[in-house]
Amino acid sequence: MFDTHAHYNNDRYDGEYEGGVAAMLDYVYANGVTHIINVGWDIASSILAAEQAKKYPGRMYAAAGMHPSDAQKVHRFDTSLAALDDLLARRDELGIVALGEIGLDYHYEDTDRIKQRIMFRKQMELARKHGVPVIIHDRDAHADSLEMIREFPNVTCVLHSFSGSAEMAKEAVALGSYISFSGTVSFKNAPKVRAAAAVVPKDRLLMETDCPFLAPHPHRGELNHSGLMRFTLEALAAARGEEAEETERITTENAMRFFGISL
Ligand SMILES: [Zn+2]
Repeated sequence: MFDTHAHYNNDRYDGEYEGGVAAMLDYVYANGVTHIINVGWDIASSILAAEQAKKYPGRMYAAAGMHPSDAQKVHRFDTSLAALDDLLARRDELGIVALGEIGLDYHYEDTDRIKQRIMFRKQMELARKHGVPVIIHDRDAHADSLEMIREFPNVTCVLHSFSGSAEMAKEAVALGSYISFSGTVSFKNAPKVRAAAAVVPKDRLLMETDCPFLAPHPHRGELNHSGLMRFTLEALAAARGEEAEETERITTENAMRFFGISL
């Protein structure tokens, strides 16, 4: 299984797992996980993601970017964007294969939507400049996220931990995007996510954990990790009416293509 969105740079692993993050990664690689994209949410976590990826050549890659909740707190846009530009310029040496996670998060009242949109657009411009795929975080901002994707027709995007409707999934696919499903597809109260999973074409489907968050049913609320992704795989396959082996095969093939990784 290819986990296209994980945060092993989150310090919860060192605090909550015996042996820390290294022991956790040994465990998940021994339990059916072939590849992991380790995702940053600001400059420091992106650098850490790349440092961790270096230790697992051919099995872990990094994504560098500024998450909307963090991006809106940045005081010096130019400095942060220059740092990101530099990371992307050195991406082959650093094992960085995507820009992310970036996007829009309108969930909380105190969000600065204008600042979020500026940072999203500036980072999309960097993706276009470097020719790298983009991992999009979209929470309660579906229309504005689609609009941004539409503005950059030459940038390939994935909507990560998809939470939109089947209609939105179809619209994003029509714009050339991939759709990635996390443990939420297994949640009892998420029929909308399963309805969306059912309409994504075979060649646009990806799978992820978003760990340490969003552990799938029946582990909801626990510390999530890539080894639990088989529960997501089973729920995703069931929602699509596919055999789990088929869903596993296509999500891995698609991830290889999306991130430009060859076997
Ligand atoms: Zn994430």
